[in-house]
Order: sequence, then C-alpha cells, then structure tokens
Amino acid sequence: MAYAYTPFPYSPPPGLITPEPRHPVVIVGAGPIGLSMAVDLALRGVKSVVLDDNNVVSLGSRAICWAKRTLEIFDRLGIGERMLEKGVTWKVGRQFHGDREVYNFDLLPEPGHKYPAFVNLQQYYVEEYLVERAQDFPDLIDLRFLNKVTDHKGHTDHVELTVETPDGPYTLETDWYIACDGAGSATRKRTNLPFEGQTFDEHFLIADVEMETSPFGDHDTPERWFWFAPPFHNGQSALLHKQPDNIYRIDLQLGPETDPKVEATEQKVVPRLKQMLGDAPFRLDWMSVYKFRCAR
Ligand SMILES: Cc1cc2nc3c(=O)[nH]c(=O)nc-3n(C[C@H](O)[C@H](O)[C@H](O)COP(=O)(O)OP(=O)(O)OC[C@H]3O[C@@H](n4cnc5c(N)ncnc54)[C@H](O)[C@@H]3O)c2cc1C
Repeated sequence: MAYAYTPFPYSPPPGLITPEPRHPVVIVGAGPIGLSMAVDLALRGVKSVVLDDNNVVSLGSRAICWAKRTLEIFDRLGIGERMLEKGVTWKVGRQFHGDREVYNFDLLPEPGHKYPAFVNLQQYYVEEYLVERAQDFPDLIDLRFLNKVTDHKGHTDHVELTVETPDGPYTLETDWYIACDGAGSATRKRTNLPFEGQTFDEHFLIADVEMETSPFGDHDTPERWFWFAPPFHNGQSALLHKQPDNIYRIDLQLGPETDPKVEATEQKVVPRLKQMLGDAPFRLDWMSVYKFRCAR
C-alpha cells in the first residue's frame, strides 16, 4: 500500500505580528539532517527553531539503506528501535555476472551487536519518526512548516533571516544558523561556498515496486543483490533491495546518453521492469532517474 502522506500543520509564526526575541539556534531544513540536529540539541537542553519550506515528509522512498553507525546515532536520538522494528534487516550481499553468482559478503558475521549491519527503511518513515521524536520536546524544538528562508545576512554576533510563509514574510534573528537545506542548499549558494567533488556520467533509474511475489524468487531472505550484465538488462548493472510493506527497490544503470525526463515515465519504466520481473504483477510505487555525485 502506498505511504499515506499527512501534511504537518502550519500556524502563523509570532514574528509576522511582532519581532521575536533573538533565538539561540535556527535550523533551516527538516530533512533527516536538520531534524536529527534539532533532536540532538534538545537532548543537550539547547532550544532551536526548525524552518522547512515544505509540509510533508520525503516524497518518495529516497534514501533506504541505513548503516549500523547511523542506526547507533538514531538510537541515541531515540528512534533506532522504531527503525529496527519497522525496517528490513540485512547483512549479506551477492554479486552476479549474468545469472552466475561470483562473490558474496557478510557485513556482520559475529553475533551480539545491538544494531545490524543495515536496515532498509524508506526515508519518509525515518522523517516521520524524527518529527514525532522532535514533538517530544515542545519547549525546546519549534517546528515551523511552510516557512521558506529566502535570505540570510551575517552580522558580527548574530544572523538575520528573511522567511516567507503563506501569510507573508517575516524576519528572525539567531545566534547560530545551521544550514541543513539539502544538496541544492540555497544557503551554500548565497554564501558562495564551494561544493567540490565529482558527478559521474552514468544515469540510473530507481523504481520502487510493490509486489506479493518476491523478485528474489524462493530466496526471500533480505539481502542486497547486484548484477553486472544481468540477463534482464543487457550490458548494464542492476541492484535489488527489499523494503518494508512488500516494496522492492530496483536500480538499473541506464548509461550516460539518456534523457531523464523520457526515462522517468511509465511507458519506458514498465517494459524495463517486466524484463526483470516477468509476468509477476506489481504496482509501481515511485521512480526517479539520478546521477551519482560525491561532493563536499
Ligand atoms: C529524487 C531523490 C532520490 C534519492 N534517492 C536516494 C537513494 O536512493 N538512496 C540514497 O541513499 N539517497 C537518496 N537520495 C538522497 C537522500 O534523499 C539525501 O541524502 C537526504 O535527503 C539528505 O538529507 P538532508 O536532510 O541533508 O537534506 P534533504 O532531505 O534534502 O532535506 C532538506 C530540507 O530542507 C528544506 N529546504 C530546502 N531549502 C529550504 C529553504 N530555503 N527554506 C526552508 N527549507 C528548505 C527542504 O524542503 C527539505 O525538507 C535521493 C534524493 C533525491 C532528491
């Protein structure tokens, strides 16, 4: 079943009517990073205001593989056990060339660890759990949805922000401004900070499918399967992961010369998936075409 998005409520911020006292911390962005930052600060008794231009959790599953170290941090923040309970735990990966298994690995061969090597869980659940956790600190975390930061100015001892809301703009002052506004960060652009690294040429298609029969076949122990030159996707690579709710992540290499707008359409995606899944019925839950970028 598709995830049911419930918009978070918006209330007009006090700064629309009268200037707000200077805040100790303002965090821009209520994605996984901004929400984690707010909860971590609250656990240390530090107040923050979190501003987000949106009012729902992640659109699409996006990040799904959460590593042991990340889970340990989420444990400290108070959502690790929920993630473990809902998520799909795995530790074994298998590599195939064609349909022949050529290599496998076990990321956590010894028992006795609190958290597994990986939990697969859609990013919308992680954000939902983080928002609910943030709401455990009503005196320390002030979550403001549909509040878009459109400008910021640094002064010697504070930062001044301009924020757009459905009721118009207002300004905020803060001792510390923490930019968690994602990979396309407008804060980074306004401050002319570099974002150096590499963008790879290849395009990849992500397709999440919901299905009753497992694409892992009889072998439905959750694992990570990766193919070089699979029989169902000529000459390229493919990746398969299981998520909760009978949703499977299929990631197909498309090559460099591809138009993402054309590829991310059902007409193009469904035939590709049928090559892999055969006649097994499936529901396409989400799709996206991306390029891999490493930058900092
Ligand atoms: C289409 C897509 C597919 C992805 N697929 C995968 C995947 O398969 N696997 C994987 O590991 N990762 C994936 N990612 C990456 C993963 O989602 C990110 O690494 C992760 O979301 C980063 O978290 P974040 O909190 O830094 O940023 P984000 O999740 O981007 O959160 C930033 C938040 O800031 C808000 N914001 C931005 N600008 C402003 C502003 N001016 N004012 C107020 N709020 C603002 C945004 O609305 C957003 O809520 C994908 C990303 C995208 C976009």
